[in-house]
Amino acid sequence: MLFPPTERKTDNASERNDVRTLLKADIIVIGAGQAGLSSAYHLQQLGLKSWKNYLVLDKSPGAGGAWQYRWPSLTLTTVNRVHDLPGLRFSDAVDVGDEVKASVAVPQYYAAYERKFELPVIRPQTVTVVCERSGRFRVETEQGGFSARGIINATGTWETPYIPTYPGAESFKGRQLHTHDYKTADEFAGKHVIVVGGGISALQLLDEISRVTSTTWVTRQEPQFRDQPFTSEDGRAAVAIVEDRVRRGLVPGSVVSVTGIPWTPALRAAQARGVLNRLPMFTNITENGVRWADGTEQRADVILWCTGFRSSLDHLAPLQIREENGGIIISGRLATQVAKDPRIHLVGYGPSASTIGANRAGGAAARELATHLGLLEG
Ligand SMILES: Cc1cc2nc3c(=O)[nH]c(=O)nc-3n(C[C@H](O)[C@H](O)[C@H](O)COP(=O)(O)OP(=O)(O)OC[C@H]3O[C@@H](n4cnc5c(N)ncnc54)[C@H](O)[C@@H]3O)c2cc1C
Repeated sequence: MLFPPTERKTDNASERNDVRTLLKADIIVIGAGQAGLSSAYHLQQLGLKSWKNYLVLDKSPGAGGAWQYRWPSLTLTTVNRVHDLPGLRFSDAVDVGDEVKASVAVPQYYAAYERKFELPVIRPQTVTVVCERSGRFRVETEQGGFSARGIINATGTWETPYIPTYPGAESFKGRQLHTHDYKTADEFAGKHVIVVGGGISALQLLDEISRVTSTTWVTRQEPQFRDQPFTSEDGRAAVAIVEDRVRRGLVPGSVVSVTGIPWTPALRAAQARGVLNRLPMFTNITENGVRWADGTEQRADVILWCTGFRSSLDHLAPLQIREENGGIIISGRLATQVAKDPRIHLVGYGPSASTIGANRAGGAAARELATHLGLLEG
């Protein structure tokens, strides 16, 4: 063991995180959000030893995964639902009320989880590149170097906001920002805001911003609202579609894109205020706004791109796991294993890109990888 627990149990944060030498473990989990924590928990449940058999590297300064960066108005009421991690109920770890900010409550929960199970999370550790080195993986971070026999990648999507390209974008004199950088509607008071996107985040932000200022809503496709509440069967069907895509090596697509958007009281109210008059995508961005193909223009001060995220996987590029179409062929019981290299699992990717999906996928990935590496024998 190159990283004895006795040495790790220092209260000195800088000492804990100053990892300049090459540290070895059988499995390195990259990312400590829902997917990484679930994976680490399951590795522990399989009887593997922390620090020797597995450890977790996380880029963020504190516990909470991407939840620590979510905008302040996202509360435990307005999120879809943060499912309990295995082994500790949210409500047992955090004093929760519906109006509690998700960016506060979820990090508290994850921190309690890490403490309860003494998970070997090292942070901040930003993995910059993973490459093959003498039959092992060399994991380079901004802070040091690690070596592993297998990787569970759980880096989520937050670090990779996606903004589509439109002609004239660079000429726009107003402000363009992505959901990733949204803080509060108040900063847009008195400005005209174009909200781009048809997902749940787009609608939540459109609702908020339209209460303080004028808005235009544009989406690529006609939004599909649904009257019926979302059932677990609907969820399973949506996940199955995404799972089928990744097993065929296609780019996953979001689960929401196949589920539609359930009407909520807030959305009904927004509709009554005339805010949901959706327009198709503009074709050009101009100095002062946007223009459609028929020449119609809309002046704008702000374009808010609620256009989603991509999986944050650039650090795995040297491993060449992508197909020519940019997708990754995934196999394994719950679609976590990279078919080209069974020593790599992606958790929180494709069908497991939800808190419940990440819980289950973490269990499957832990078992399959530990078995593949011969860690469960004897
Ligand atoms: C606005 C918004 C609301 C959402 N609401 C819900 C909801 O209500 N319910 C739900 O089930 N899902 C929701 N989701 C999806 C949600 O993000 C996932 O379900 C889940 O929380 C993602 O967990 P994760 O562990 O995969 O990723 P993250 O929470 O993003 O965790 C990834 C971790 O990896 C770290 N990391 C990233 N890159 C590196 C690197 N190179 N090196 C080291 N560490 C790295 C990050 O710092 C982070 O700590 C929402 C998503 C968004 C964007």
